Amino acid sequence: MLDVQSFAAGQWLPSGAGARNIASAITGDVIAQAGNDALDVQAMLGHAREVGGPALRKLTFHDRAKMLKAVALYLMERKQALYELSYDTGATLSDHKIDIDGGIGTMMVFASKGRREMPDAHVYLDGPPEQLGRAGDFMGRHICTPLQGVAVHINAFNFPVWGMLEKLAPTLLAGVPAIVKPATATSYVTEACVRMMLESGLLPKGALQLVSGGLGDMLDHLECQDAVAFTGSADTALMLRSNPKLMQHSVRFASEQDSLNASVLGPDAVAGTPEFDLFVKEVQREMTAKAGQKCTAIRRIMVPEAQVDAVIAALGERLAKTTIGDPRAEATRMGALVSAGQKRDVLEKAALIGAEAERVFGNPDDFTVAGADKDKGAFVPPMLFHCADPDAAQRVHDTEAFGPVSTIMPYRDLPHAIDLLNKGKGSLVASIITNDGDVAREVTMGSAAFHGRLYFNNRTSMSEATGHGAPLPHMVHGGPGRAGGGEELGGIRGVMHYMQRTAIQGSPDILTSIGKQWVPGGTEITDQAHPFTRTFNQIKLGETFNSPSREITLEDIETFAHFTGDTFYAHMDEDAAKANPFFPGRVAHGYLLLSFAAGLFVQPDPGPVLANTGLDNLRFMAPVAAGDSIRVRLSVKHKTPRNEEYGEVRWHVTLYNQNDEVAAEYELLTMNAY
Ligand code: NDP
Repeated sequence: MLDVQSFAAGQWLPSGAGARNIASAITGDVIAQAGNDALDVQAMLGHAREVGGPALRKLTFHDRAKMLKAVALYLMERKQALYELSYDTGATLSDHKIDIDGGIGTMMVFASKGRREMPDAHVYLDGPPEQLGRAGDFMGRHICTPLQGVAVHINAFNFPVWGMLEKLAPTLLAGVPAIVKPATATSYVTEACVRMMLESGLLPKGALQLVSGGLGDMLDHLECQDAVAFTGSADTALMLRSNPKLMQHSVRFASEQDSLNASVLGPDAVAGTPEFDLFVKEVQREMTAKAGQKCTAIRRIMVPEAQVDAVIAALGERLAKTTIGDPRAEATRMGALVSAGQKRDVLEKAALIGAEAERVFGNPDDFTVAGADKDKGAFVPPMLFHCADPDAAQRVHDTEAFGPVSTIMPYRDLPHAIDLLNKGKGSLVASIITNDGDVAREVTMGSAAFHGRLYFNNRTSMSEATGHGAPLPHMVHGGPGRAGGGEELGGIRGVMHYMQRTAIQGSPDILTSIGKQWVPGGTEITDQAHPFTRTFNQIKLGETFNSPSREITLEDIETFAHFTGDTFYAHMDEDAAKANPFFPGRVAHGYLLLSFAAGLFVQPDPGPVLANTGLDNLRFMAPVAAGDSIRVRLSVKHKTPRNEEYGEVRWHVTLYNQNDEVAAEYELLTMNAY
């Protein structure tokens, strides 16, 4: 019997008084127990806030991203042990790949995004500075800093590893410690994964704690710097989010809950098209993966009236090939539900749906299970219903049977399909299988506001598409209304849920000091050698080189035009250029100005500048005509270490004309040796 322990305030706590038994989904035998009424929740919160938080906040975003990558690689090497444990949850090998590999992969993506999209610093800058006064001496900008409390993650049973890691990765990247509370039914898998992460020694003390079993009254002790992220049923979410202490302290509460996700077969995707076959394949996969216990699974299947019979036949044929049985057996395509309780719940919900729809595939009283005892394990067959009058029906739109249960419903035309989609009153994802851009646009305009994600697939995208049900770390996961109103993942957006956005206002130098990014108008350091001769470590924010000026002649413009082939009339034809409201007459090419700017600011000798890697935010602001002259101001704006040898320097470049008007502005990127 497994003793599923908690990790509280730096100590492992075995199960004890108040522990709950956990049965195998396959045999029904009790295999583990979890929970202990002696859990000291206040000590846990204190440990996170006083030990974990400060340690994490000392690290930069890049330090934390590197830590996540190391943890992910550590888990990857040990995933087989998690697979072995996970079979007893009813999951097959391909289910483990979604849960375990998917969770580790999510962590890897956050590690990589943290390095690429966040600074090697402690403050995240949200948007550019705003000039709030006329002269530019009073500026504003938005910054994000880590919450100084603890994130409490309450997870559902269906993804014991992914469910934890998809919340943990953005939380740790933000710099916030987490207390993870997995659903008891599969907590033994989560506990094993947490043990691995702790044993790796890669996480600072207090960054990660675990509650196996009940959470006690932890939520009653949360404060304004804490956050709760919940995944599970709508009833539990409602009960937890109504906690007066959470409301009193405005504790952030993000919820992912029941969702009646739908898939629409486009009007163009009739039988015989690649889209029709793709639709049937996607629906069958979503019904049977994880035995339908996926928050994103397709519950409602909307097809044009004329395609209903063809879809039922094709889907039935595919579902009939789904071998149900012992998830350890290679031939098994669908394992068991997580528990006998969950099986009872699914059958009850299926009966409710059955009152409004006819079951056209799968009979829970008559199906075959290979290699396991059908009566002891929590097995059910895939069940497909057909609701002929979805406008009159209610349960098919509001009852989530959290198993391999879906309902086909006909639609008359696209507005009708949109109406049915929105009857789910908020979902995590809706998919539309269509090869018609107009259909995609109409569904988007009519229905996007009801869904956290819209997934379009067709003959072009199908070879690479990741599947209706796969939440990707890059894309938002969550949804309005019934789906809980929460939002997770979505790249760096997901990290922001654990940070506070603050508007800061002050002088350019104050903003530069806080954000570690030079703000134009701030002090320019001009008493150093040319910045191209100074290494990455030597140059300072605000170091500035002011070039001499150079006159632009008509000959320069003509030479550049003939050399590059860019003989556009604005540079070559005085009358035509004059007729254009933007130009006083023939003007210099923007690219000529950029080239001359480089000629004015570079220091040509070999030195620490290794490469020019790009240019951002280029704006040409005033035309430069023959006879005008330009000069350049080059300032160090931001520095980001990239690897062991060099880092990226972001330069703020301003081109002025002879009247000190800004002719062009951009950011130049170079790689500079340390
Ligand atoms: P529950 O809502 O029962 O549980 C979710 C989590 O909340 C579990 O960790 C559970 O812990 C915890 N919990 C329950 N009561 C409390 C409490 N009083 N205080 C603190 N924590 C509490 O959902 P399940 O995981 O059991 O799944 C049940 C249903 O949820 C499914 O049938 C499905 O409808 C829905 N679901 C929806 C998902 C989605 O994202 N759309 C995903 C997964 C499930 P414990 O297990 O210890 O009770």
